[in-house]
Amino acid sequence: MSVAPLTALQTPTFSFELYPPRSAAAEQTLLRSIEHLVAAGPEFISVTYGANGSSRNSSLAVLLRLLEQTDVSAMAHLTCVGSSYADATRLIREFLDAGVTSFLALRGDPPAGAVEGDRFLGDLGSAGELVQLIHRVQAERDQFSLNDIPGFPGAKRLSSGHKVTIAVAAFPNGHPRSRSVEQDLDTLLAKEAAGANLAITQLFFHADDYLGFLDKARAAGVTMRILPGIMPVLSPQRLRRIVQLTDETLPTDLLRRLEAERTPEGQAAVGIEHAIDLGSAVLEGTGGDSPGIHLYTFNQHEAVLDVLRGCRLLEPVTTEHN
Ligand code: FAD
Repeated sequence: MSVAPLTALQTPTFSFELYPPRSAAAEQTLLRSIEHLVAAGPEFISVTYGANGSSRNSSLAVLLRLLEQTDVSAMAHLTCVGSSYADATRLIREFLDAGVTSFLALRGDPPAGAVEGDRFLGDLGSAGELVQLIHRVQAERDQFSLNDIPGFPGAKRLSSGHKVTIAVAAFPNGHPRSRSVEQDLDTLLAKEAAGANLAITQLFFHADDYLGFLDKARAAGVTMRILPGIMPVLSPQRLRRIVQLTDETLPTDLLRRLEAERTPEGQAAVGIEHAIDLGSAVLEGTGGDSPGIHLYTFNQHEAVLDVLRGCRLLEPVTTEHN
């Protein structure tokens, strides 16, 4: 790694989400961003997993890069929709053998063309079932692990008895298919009961969305950390696309501010400022509960590092960016 380490300033942690690159050029951009993101000292970096396993190899390649060439903790997103029990078991085993000890267990969305109610789910109907399966596969692997044999691939990275972190998704503004807040809270409780020990939220645009949800989750009995997911949105086009993909309500206040800017630089500054305000408000508002923020990076380091500096989680830059 050629990028000098940055200095993290406070107790609240930060983490990043990456997605696997879809072209050789995108891979080069990602590798450069990874150097900068790792140098910032995140708690972990998570790597998304394409619906129905479409990015299995490329996700694993990014995870291996993080595991083998950095000392950062790498979290693998896994989805189970459409998987047989045997396939999901094999996949989890493969990731564990590669040295992954941290997962974000997701059900995943229905394949294109399918609707809820069709028979598309496969053997695992929810993220909670995937959480249980990860624990089971890891326990069985610990019992019979070939990795305990010196020289076997992965033996250095994951020794028997190592406990896995299993994160799950949470939805401060409700999952688009959920009928009520109670259903979302029950789902989160069920995920924790299944063995999840961390939640990461869907992105949101107003601090009260997250803070109100955190209060309700605690009142409902959820005890695990619930990290707020924050994305600096750098253009009106991207904002519209994100809202379409996540089914979140369009934040018209932010849209208006982005549209009022005439240059990409001006729009980026608005998006970063919005994310800084959001991150700062959330960190202040939680009063120490779930201290930390999870940043959706779009595989770019500049904006998220600016957000961390603005939230006073990283030292400000004294010289120009490189
Ligand atoms: P579940 O926990 O099983 O369900 C989530 C919620 O939906 C619950 O409230 C549940 O009650 C409700 N629900 C589910 N089905 C129905 C139904 N039929 N009717 C009514 N309510 C229903 N997707 C990917 O493909 N790859 C990724 O890498 C990825 N990463 C993500 C990371 C984060 C932090 C988040 C928040 C989402 C991510 N997603 C990803 C999207 C995720 O797969 C979808 O949101 C999916 O629809 C739900 O997955 P889940 O694990 O939350 O499912």
